[in-house]
This record gives sequence, structure tokens and C-alpha cells, in this order.
Amino acid sequence: MKKLGIIGGMSWESTAIYYQYLNQGVRARLGGLHSADLLLYSFDFAAIENLQSAGNWEEAKNAMVKAAIDLKKAGAEALMIATNTMHKMANEVEKAAGLPLFHIADATADAIQKQSVSKPLLLATNFTMSQDFYKGRLRDKHNITAITPEDDEKTIIHSIIYNELCQGIISATSKDNYLKIINKMKVEKQIDSVIFGCTEIGLLLSEDDLDIPAFDTTKIHCDYALDMLL
Ligand code: GLU
Repeated sequence: MKKLGIIGGMSWESTAIYYQYLNQGVRARLGGLHSADLLLYSFDFAAIENLQSAGNWEEAKNAMVKAAIDLKKAGAEALMIATNTMHKMANEVEKAAGLPLFHIADATADAIQKQSVSKPLLLATNFTMSQDFYKGRLRDKHNITAITPEDDEKTIIHSIIYNELCQGIISATSKDNYLKIINKMKVEKQIDSVIFGCTEIGLLLSEDDLDIPAFDTTKIHCDYALDMLL
């Protein structure tokens, strides 16, 4: 296995799951005592969130590029960004490090195309739902149009991610709020599947909570990277 560099800690709640899935995936593929050969750069998420909420994407990009270069210097041969939102600067990170980067939207598109669905609802941070870096890649590179909720619903989804899930708080009321939004979008927009487009959503919802296919980007991203690496 090539040495994998992970840029994570955004938040560590989901990076811990990446670590688990990657190791479980290597064991499932190679067996025995095999485990993932990886390096982890784990940010203090408070510093990154300050830059995000201030709209200081330039400084956030510089921090991400520095992390990627540090991982390369430490021996990483390929990269993963363990969050959907920070794929906003994935192209710059990949270019600056000069290493292959396993893009979370490409991984998601692959999983979607294996099922017969065409109208996925994207649940994610407001940045990912409202800006074009993730939806645009799904659309332009993979011909998949993701549906997003109304603005007031985006605010609820975003707030639960930052104020609860990224802080390890799992609430039944918030789960209910997510399910209400999904059910409403089924009726109003005829969505036929749901993208858990934030790496913490799998902490709150599982595929079994829904009667339509769900795409958990954390799990999908890990499987995709392992398929490429092994
Ligand atoms: N982990 C989340 C995501 O997948 C949100 C935290 C972040 O802004 O990176 O988008």
C-alpha cells in the first residue's frame, strides 16, 4: 500500500471514523495483521472554523497547502482531505503538493452511478450546499445534479453540524429535524436518494433510517481511496 497522507481534524469526530474505516478496509482486503499505512495532519478545528466563518478562504487554503506539503515531506505518496467543505481548495492543494488527491466528490459520484438514482438531495454545510465546488464537480464531471434544501433548512442543517456533531453532541431532536427535511424534499422535489455530504452526518443518521439510498461520504471516500491504493 502506498503511504496515504490525510488532512483531517475538521472535525476530529469524523477523522476518527476515517481512521477506523481505513484500517477496517485494509484488514478486509489484506487480512491478518495488515493495517493502513498512513500519516495524519490533524488541525485545531477552531482555527479553521474561524477562517471559514470569516470568509478568509485564502488563509484557509494556505494552511491546507502547508499541511499537504508537510505530509509529502514526511513521506506521503497520495492525499485525502477528510472533509467535504475543505474540498473547496482541493485543486490548489493537489497542485501544490504534486501528489494524487482522492477527491470526495469523485468518490461520491462513483457510488451514485452504481445505483439507479438520479435526484440526490445534498445535506452538508452551508458552504458545500450553497457554493459550487462540490455540486459543480458532480454536475460538470459526472453529470449528476444534486438538489439542495431551502435556505432556512440549510441554516438548520449547518448549525447542527457545527454546534453539535463537530462537538460530539448527538441529539434525537436534530435527527428528527434532518429526517423531516428529507421527507419534505421527497414530496416537494421528488428526491430519490440522499448524500451525507458532510463527514459528520453519519454520526447522526444511518442508511437504515431512510427508505431511499443514502451515500455516506466518509465511508465512500475511504473505500474509494483504498481501491486506488491497494
Ligand atoms: N466535516 C464537515 C464536512 O465534511 C464540516 C466541517 C468542515 O467545515 O470541514 O464538510
